[in-house]
Amino acid sequence: MTTTMPRTQTTQRPAPYAHRPRPLALLVPLALLAACTSVPLPPWTPPSAQPAAVAPAPTAPRPAPPVAVQVTPVAPATLPSSPAAQAEAPAPYSAAVAARFPAPSVTYNTPGLQAGRSSFTTQAEIQAWLREQAAAATRTPGIRASVLPIGRSQRGETLEALVLTRAGGTDPALMQAAGKPTVLLVGQQHGDEPAGSEALLVIARELAQGLLQPVLERINVVIVPRGNPDGAAIDQRATSGGLDMNRDHLLLNTPEAQALARLARDYNPTVVVDAHEYTVVGRYLQKFGTVQKFDALFQYATTANLPEFLTKAAEEWYRRPLLVALKGQNLSSEWYYTTSSDLADKKISMGGTQPDTGRNVNGLKNAISLLIETRGVGIGRLHIQRRVHTQVTAITSVLASTAQRANELQQLRPYLDKEVSAQACKEQAIVEAAPTAAQYELLMLDPVTGADKAVSVDWDSALALRTLKARARPCGYWLSAASTVAVDRLRLHGVQVMRVAEQGSMLGDSYRETASTSGERLDVRGAIADGNAIIKVQVSLARGVVDVPRGSYYVPLNQPMANLVMAALEPDTQSSFFANQILQGLQSTVRVMADPTIKLEELN
Ligand SMILES: [Zn+2]
Repeated sequence: MTTTMPRTQTTQRPAPYAHRPRPLALLVPLALLAACTSVPLPPWTPPSAQPAAVAPAPTAPRPAPPVAVQVTPVAPATLPSSPAAQAEAPAPYSAAVAARFPAPSVTYNTPGLQAGRSSFTTQAEIQAWLREQAAAATRTPGIRASVLPIGRSQRGETLEALVLTRAGGTDPALMQAAGKPTVLLVGQQHGDEPAGSEALLVIARELAQGLLQPVLERINVVIVPRGNPDGAAIDQRATSGGLDMNRDHLLLNTPEAQALARLARDYNPTVVVDAHEYTVVGRYLQKFGTVQKFDALFQYATTANLPEFLTKAAEEWYRRPLLVALKGQNLSSEWYYTTSSDLADKKISMGGTQPDTGRNVNGLKNAISLLIETRGVGIGRLHIQRRVHTQVTAITSVLASTAQRANELQQLRPYLDKEVSAQACKEQAIVEAAPTAAQYELLMLDPVTGADKAVSVDWDSALALRTLKARARPCGYWLSAASTVAVDRLRLHGVQVMRVAEQGSMLGDSYRETASTSGERLDVRGAIADGNAIIKVQVSLARGVVDVPRGSYYVPLNQPMANLVMAALEPDTQSSFFANQILQGLQSTVRVMADPTIKLEELN
């Protein structure tokens, strides 16, 4: 049961997407998944062997960039005589290793990639670039573009997003009305990971006035090139206050994470890409005597309670074509992995399973949520053209997959939203899960010879979650009237919160503390940079009728964001609002176990 995309073989650069025949949608419902629900599934078509976006590069030698990466060629006169990246970077490994990573045939020319530059694109240059692209885009009839202020960094930099669409306008309602999926692209949440940001400037230009422009016939795109400008300005991972914003996407303590949450709430993206870079030498050299090999590491959302269909779409519609696209550019890839900063701990872990990263939290918002990491942390500007090329190749593949699947994705999203909503009051939900221990043969590089070196590692797989704690899924949560910070954070995520309009009672489970200590939030790298101790509590549940006063709150679980609500409100996890003191006291929260019959009102 496979379908083959009709494809035009050509040695010319094809006009991407717009005029290409659309894949035939095979009406093959997934029997197993469909059996569980009355909501109709979108038709499932397996990915074609050669998706449109990853047509092979022409074999004839040509000076133009390969077709798979849709980049407008720059005039030869403006090309630097040698790749800017190699200018002054002292290689932290041998020439033999460096030779494994030749510069791509494409040369990218963002401000930060100009020859002779020692710094990446500045925040002011990004702002000018986005305005330039918005202006250029709107010269094409039918395209609307805006640069939106989405928030302020801790040091007062304006965070901005470029919105590109063929809808009636760039505000969320008009874009929603156009009935096309929206892709949100986020770069450089970690300030010392520049390639994602530079690549998103390239992508912005190609969408606005280059070879990617035709995808706007089928999708909307929102681009935040740099999520953490303060960190970027000083080549630091964390935000200026020292917080790791990519562990803050559930709690929303940082203005940077708040800005991205607000943007996701308003534009409701179907697909979210988070562009990062990973450590190449550092602790890997100390632990394994190796340098890391892969141009790209990739992972989709892997946290508890994700709809099965979401993961399947991420795998089949996105990851598989992405691997083909990378391979077509001679770029290597692997699942995303990292390792603890503890040098005695040689375990390798895939990206975490906690509901705190952008990758996992956007999955809990029922978006297809994709992490792309290039080989970049700790090597300065070394191989920067190749790193940007890797990001551009991967992101181009994601945009093309979305354009190719636009109709199915438009069906998938309401299906997922209904499926999650329909689970309220039913069966069990996972409160806490962990990755599964496995062994893995991981390829690394010998730091002297540059040869591949296979290392057998203990590997925590995030692809198979172990349930550590499960509970009956409530109908909703009652929150005390004092829980205003928690209510604000939930609403920033787009969660519907109701106010109790008259005094009454609800049947529910209250939490009783059985043990409590203070501790720190951990990820697979070690302690999370968030500056605060957490409350690690153990609880038992006590069923009863609970009196609820007017002015307190009710968060129903029959809503699309139900799984995010559970991640925030079950108190005995390290990511919860209670553990992180956004909610004060266990008595502030009750698991409501029957649909409330008292009068509730919408918050304004
Ligand atoms: Zn990162």
